[in-house]
Amino acid sequence: MKKQEVSLFWFRRDLRLEDNVGLFFALKSEFPVIPLFIFDTDILDSLPSNDARVGFIHDSLSDINAKLQRITSSLLIKKGRTQEVWRGLIDEFDVKEVFFNKDYEPYAIKRDLAICELLEINKTKTFLHKDQVIFEETEITKADGLPYTVYTPFKNKWLEKYKSLAPVLEYDSTSLFSNFYKNTFAFPTLLEIGFKENSIKVQPHNLTKVSNYHETRDFPAVDSTSYLSPHLRFGTVSIRKLVNWAAHKNDVFLSELIWREFFMQILFSFPNVVTHNFKSAYDGIQWHNNVDDFQRWCSGTTGYPMVDAGMRQLNETGYMHNRVRMVVASFLCKHLLIQWQWGEAYFAEKLLDYELSANVGNWQWAAGTGCDAAPYFRVFNPEIQLKKFDEKGIYIRKWIPEFDLGYGLPMVEHAFARDRAIATYKAGIAK
Ligand code: FAD
Repeated sequence: MKKQEVSLFWFRRDLRLEDNVGLFFALKSEFPVIPLFIFDTDILDSLPSNDARVGFIHDSLSDINAKLQRITSSLLIKKGRTQEVWRGLIDEFDVKEVFFNKDYEPYAIKRDLAICELLEINKTKTFLHKDQVIFEETEITKADGLPYTVYTPFKNKWLEKYKSLAPVLEYDSTSLFSNFYKNTFAFPTLLEIGFKENSIKVQPHNLTKVSNYHETRDFPAVDSTSYLSPHLRFGTVSIRKLVNWAAHKNDVFLSELIWREFFMQILFSFPNVVTHNFKSAYDGIQWHNNVDDFQRWCSGTTGYPMVDAGMRQLNETGYMHNRVRMVVASFLCKHLLIQWQWGEAYFAEKLLDYELSANVGNWQWAAGTGCDAAPYFRVFNPEIQLKKFDEKGIYIRKWIPEFDLGYGLPMVEHAFARDRAIATYKAGIAK
């Protein structure tokens, strides 16, 4: 029997139908488009069976599927190793063209290269698009073509380029919906994918909160940040729409979106930052890496209320306020002298918004080992941070209900830990 000629659009970290560049171009193709998602077992096999992020992906796909069903189409969901799944798809359909949006993480680049090779052997045309960032790869470089490793000049160049295009083009994929392949593929339950519900859920994002962002964003009790991070991570919002909006609303908020692209560019240009210090001169630091100390940090029982509240917020909700993330990260690396990779891995396990580039970038920033990082002799004082950013103790009481009953002693005295950190760094940094 003659196989059906189709195009495929492969959803990955772009879980929306609107303003989706790869999908837009797929729907312009001459063949009906099957929208595809693969639950990649190379990623899923390392996750706990109640991973809340898998639940969020499933919910987001379910929303997409419901919209597709209204136009008598549906998502094709597969589970397996991506190469095997693609081999199966090539057997099942006459796959003429494949479209997807680029992903800049090292694992994804390698995976996508292998799939492109497989499709090429099959004589399938493959189209990769930029979707998750405004500027990708080497679009923002220094005059000599090398990547920026300092944020402010990166940001200035980014803004200059953005202003020459503003507003950046948004892609009206919705006007092309008639080109979806008409079929009802079965939509699996989360259980059928091999996962269970988790009571921890991604919050809806809220842009009304950021009107006064420049003044309030550092105060965890005020709750005035956007909660966009998981939505940007999984692409349930479009970065183009967001940046076009932010450019008219709040420069400080826009700057944070540029930090996101800065760290993505660093990861793309220097993929070994995932495991190695960006500054190799810091490789000689003698970390203490004490397992019991690490456990106290993880469970939020260090005796420092700001640190403990942050870790409890993370453990209970999969989220932590940015100011508090900075405090807990600095505390782990400097007060406890535990290498940043341990903290990075713990955040990667817990954060709903876990993003390799931002997590590694910010952890290395806190540890002082990263590009444009906090200087090694800057050691946050968790008590002063508390006084400055949660003066009335509203945030800490929310996460440490027993606080007023008399809170335990700090596990390490600040002045001692500060001096020890500076001395250890000084001794370890190569001259
Ligand atoms: P808002 O303040 O509303 O900011 C809007 C968006 O800007 C965020 O959603 C995010 O996409 C971007 N952004 C803001 N701050 C940063 C930043 N410092 N670096 C990069 N992008 C930023 N963010 C992640 O998305 N994933 C992570 O895995 C992650 N790990 C972090 C680890 C540490 C140690 C630290 C200090 C920060 C980390 N961040 C990470 C950055 C930041 O804390 C979160 O992006 C932010 O708290 C998310 O909340 P929001 O969406 O309400 O942020």
